[in-house]
Amino acid sequence: MKPAPFEYVAAESVEEALAALQQNNLEGKILAGGQSLLPLLNLRLIKPKILVDLNGISGLDAIRETPGFLAIGAMTRQSKVEHSSLVRERCPILAEAIRYIGHVAIRHRGTIGGSLAHGDPAAELPAVALALDAKFELAGKRSDRTIAAEEFFLDFLTTALAPDEILRQIVFPVLRSSSGYALEEITRRHGDFAIAGVVVIVDLDDAGKIAEARVALFGVAPTPVRARETERALIGREPNDSAMLEAAALLREVLEPPGDIRASSAYRKHAAAILMSRAFKRAVQLCH
Ligand code: FAD
Repeated sequence: MKPAPFEYVAAESVEEALAALQQNNLEGKILAGGQSLLPLLNLRLIKPKILVDLNGISGLDAIRETPGFLAIGAMTRQSKVEHSSLVRERCPILAEAIRYIGHVAIRHRGTIGGSLAHGDPAAELPAVALALDAKFELAGKRSDRTIAAEEFFLDFLTTALAPDEILRQIVFPVLRSSSGYALEEITRRHGDFAIAGVVVIVDLDDAGKIAEARVALFGVAPTPVRARETERALIGREPNDSAMLEAAALLREVLEPPGDIRASSAYRKHAAAILMSRAFKRAVQLCH
């Protein structure tokens, strides 16, 4: 349980961090909160030549509001986002989701950018980013770029981040005050990664019918996924039991979750459909 030897640089700016990654032939790794990176290092599942620590860079941990959006620096601790009154007011699903991440100590150290850059398909934040259509601002040595959440998560623990790029900030559209939202998940023990989970965001029209439905699932595929067919099928429906039953049946049809030591594929599929119905009911109750 000891990492292979590595060099270490405490970067004082994003530019310095990018230069350190370049100078080491891209065999470096960014260190944020270390909550996912250190276990990988200690188990020698990864052996980077150098760790580039972002913790000393100022200005990467701000939560700012612009019209219609919340911009959150990648190094913002998960607990800061969880307890931010601005986040709770403007984008409460983010704060709700973070409550499900591990335990208090992990959320105090873990960063929002670290969770997203790690890209664990069973993690809560990637699914929230996908449900909200968040944008990821990446810093690169040659140029910066912005990428949509839909294009960011590519495969199991694999994102669109190049080895010489740093996630600088994530921009989340704020929720309409009329929107309902909910996250539901199944874990073996409190604080574990989810066996299956779902994020639902819903809006009703003046007649009480579903005007917008967003359903993002986690733990059921190599990346978080949007259930687009289910979303489309719900538009214009009354949010009643029969709509939920049909949506759940549709979800069962399209999902092909992996089976592993924690749960079979069939169990995950069944759980995802039930979680979706539960989350939808809770979300609808918050709509006004
Ligand atoms: P690090 O561990 O420092 O980095 C993670 C990866 O992202 C590394 O590859 C690193 O190089 C890269 N990286 C980090 N920041 C950047 C950046 N700005 N730009 C580019 N690359 C970057 N997570 C959940 O979602 N749900 C859970 O239920 C959960 N349970 C946990 C339980 C335990 C016991 C532990 C130890 C962790 C758990 N986690 C869980 C993981 C936790 O959320 C981590 O904090 C998170 O996954 C990584 O964030 P970090 O800041 O610690 O990143």
